[in-house]
Amino acid sequence: MGMHVKFWGVRGSLPSPTGPEALVTRFRDLLHAFFDIGYSRKAEIEKFLESLPPHRLGGYGGNTLCLEVTTGAQQIIIDGGSGIRPLGYDLLKGPCGKGKGEVHILFTHFHWDHVLGLPFFTPIFIPGNTIHLYAVEPDLPDVLKTIFRKPNFPVQMEQLGAKLVYHRLPPRQPTRLGEITVTPYQLDHPDPCWGYRLEHQGKVFSHCADTECKRSNREDLGPDLPMYQGVDLMVFDAQYSIVEVVEKVDWGHAAALIGLDLAMQEGIKKVAFIHHEPASSDDKIAQAEARTREYYERQVKTSREENLGLHEVDWFFAREGMSLDV
Ligand SMILES: [Zn+2]
Ligand SMILES: [Zn+2]
Repeated sequence: MGMHVKFWGVRGSLPSPTGPEALVTRFRDLLHAFFDIGYSRKAEIEKFLESLPPHRLGGYGGNTLCLEVTTGAQQIIIDGGSGIRPLGYDLLKGPCGKGKGEVHILFTHFHWDHVLGLPFFTPIFIPGNTIHLYAVEPDLPDVLKTIFRKPNFPVQMEQLGAKLVYHRLPPRQPTRLGEITVTPYQLDHPDPCWGYRLEHQGKVFSHCADTECKRSNREDLGPDLPMYQGVDLMVFDAQYSIVEVVEKVDWGHAAALIGLDLAMQEGIKKVAFIHHEPASSDDKIAQAEARTREYYERQVKTSREENLGLHEVDWFFAREGMSLDV
């Protein structure tokens, strides 16, 4: 069994539930579409729903970043955004629910959207569980103290039921975590932020958010270049549209085309775009996805015509709840 990746939260910056007005608009649009197609019977509902692009139903999701990588014997969580809350409920069905769980959480950095779910991660309150927390930056214990501190939160870090174990990861050096080898690499983001390359049985998963990816050619990537090579699945920061990314220089985030260029250059097989802008509606994200598709197809055509040797890439904008094998 290889690695299995599940997206528990793909929104950037702030949890962003779809509001009541937007939901009413969506229901109205869907009902209109149902009858416009010529359907009229209850029995046709499932067929209709299956025919829709998924973003028109559930959207891309509002929880902030949290991914889960599992193999047969090892589980690693990346980041503790609000997506870690439903993941916590899921874990309660296993040893974590009985106080016999071992959880491993890697933190890319400590911006709120990557830690704000921790006070609602139920396994952390259950005595007997051990929560291993990993980061490159040394501030991890202080960050936890700040999150679990009055008057911001009623339970103090020292009162948490689970045992917390802190680990510092050395940059650009592999660390073995059960069946998975983890190597951090530097991203282009304030405070700073680290990508994670996970390897298992010859397969490579790479977590590349948050990043503006200012360094994208081989020379600028320098010691981080090997981290972008031989990758089977990369998640990449696509907070902005192509227009916004030009306006928001130094904001620490990228657009999908930047990740695609990198993937086509280095032969990354598959890319999932995450960290969607909280102010963007599902329609706006879908539009960005469509524009990226046009861009990608142009690049492929040019590369074929002019023999540029760019690699073709399988890619998509990730939605909350999706999962795939690496
Ligand atoms: Zn973020
Ligand atoms: Zn950030």
